[in-house]
Amino acid sequence: MSTKAAIQQYLKQQKLLFGNELYLSKEPVFPEEPAPTIDKPTANGELDAFNQSICHCQECPLGKTRTNFVFGVGDPHSDLLLVGEAPGEQEDLKGEPFVGRAGKLLDDILRAIQKKRGEGVYITNVLKCRPPNNRDPLPSEVEKCEPFLMKQINLIQPKLIVALGRVAGKTLLKMDVPLKEMREKTHDYHGTPLRVTYHPAALLRNSNFKKPTWVDFQWIRDFLQTT
Ligand code: URA
Repeated sequence: MSTKAAIQQYLKQQKLLFGNELYLSKEPVFPEEPAPTIDKPTANGELDAFNQSICHCQECPLGKTRTNFVFGVGDPHSDLLLVGEAPGEQEDLKGEPFVGRAGKLLDDILRAIQKKRGEGVYITNVLKCRPPNNRDPLPSEVEKCEPFLMKQINLIQPKLIVALGRVAGKTLLKMDVPLKEMREKTHDYHGTPLRVTYHPAALLRNSNFKKPTWVDFQWIRDFLQTT
């Protein structure tokens, strides 16, 4: 791609993400084809088999109210694992995480760091079933569902976990603090580095969160490139 075409593509992508505001990184980054991923020994089949073994779960009352069990989606050899709190209405209907408006924005953000759903990234939630009216997950539901996430992490072996939003962050880190206090720190989640950033739905509600989110995703991109 020529430099001019790369600049045009970069600006178009930025407009898509941030509208008419332009955030400049210290070093401008132009989109490139994502680097080929090196296969890890885990197989897609193992994740599928695990999904099959838990998708009829009735360990908590959400098993009765869900339309679909939302296991997760993406590349089973991903370096990056994104974790939201729980499926919403659209996700429950489709059986896939982050497919509504927030999910579209998440896809745009991923594109800005040269990743896409299904390539180099795996997306899931702490809870695999939708809580009624999208209420926050209950501790009793997290207790039953979190071991599923831990097994997914074991199979995928990501280099980095990113919790999307305060609820996912506080649930995984077992710390009830504002999101600002969890951001820009590398936490440890059972041996895997974990960062916390804004939930894409929060960005749709308040565009002031877009700039810090972009800072976070640049950090994520750089971390994955250097480890
Ligand atoms: N919000 C989440 O936390 N997860 C989804 O899958 C969708 C919306």
